[in-house]
Amino acid sequence: MLRDLTLETTLESVTRMSQYKYETHLHTSETSRCGKSSGAELALHYKRLGYTGVFVTDHFLNGNTTVPEDPSWPDRVEMFCHGYRMAAQKGREIGLDVHFGWEYGSGWVHLLTYGLDQDWLVANPEVLSWDLLHYCDRVHGDGGSIVHAHPFREGVDIVQVLPGHVDAVEVLNSGRDDESNRHALDYANSFGLPKVAGSDIHSIECKRLCGMGFSRRLRDAHDYATAIKAGEGVIIEMPAGRTQEHELEDE
Ligand SMILES: [Zn+2]
Ligand SMILES: [Zn+2]
Repeated sequence: MLRDLTLETTLESVTRMSQYKYETHLHTSETSRCGKSSGAELALHYKRLGYTGVFVTDHFLNGNTTVPEDPSWPDRVEMFCHGYRMAAQKGREIGLDVHFGWEYGSGWVHLLTYGLDQDWLVANPEVLSWDLLHYCDRVHGDGGSIVHAHPFREGVDIVQVLPGHVDAVEVLNSGRDDESNRHALDYANSFGLPKVAGSDIHSIECKRLCGMGFSRRLRDAHDYATAIKAGEGVIIEMPAGRTQEHELEDE
């Protein structure tokens, strides 16, 4: 369960910890078929909200993507990176850190993948045929990290979890209902997995934003993974345009 922080000392420390705000789960209209706002629009949006950075995590080519199947693999990967590139270009102009990632899909198992780049995708054209566990092993073997996004969601009858193969669990996702997020939190607690939050934002009209706050600026996606595994971050939530910090109960 989420609870508001009431102890002044704790609130002070959390506020300090969330000085650098990050969106960890974001879809652009260039690359995600369900996306409503462009990479540049989203970058501007988060800059205006005072964020330090965002991670662009468009649906990969086994998900809800705009990328056609016909072109060559390198061309498909290039098209896949378009939304990120547009966000990153705007980010450089306005001073927002834009990091690369993707949301790998296997049925309803969605894995936010961080710390690998376009070259890794180009070098692994068989990635779409790997089974889920092999995908996790390869990502980890090459230095990447995996967050299980919204492991529970409304209307899904068969739920798959792979606690031994992910680095963290998304326990607060703006698009999911409270019950689904609570199940995710229970799951993370049960296996002692690090907990993160993300908006799964598809449009700048999204009213509820969830993300991670840190006491320092993150260097890159590797640094993000290291930080969440070390328990450095705090979960943040922004309803009605105003930041609130939450502490997640462990039980
Ligand atoms: Zn998803
Ligand atoms: Zn998503």
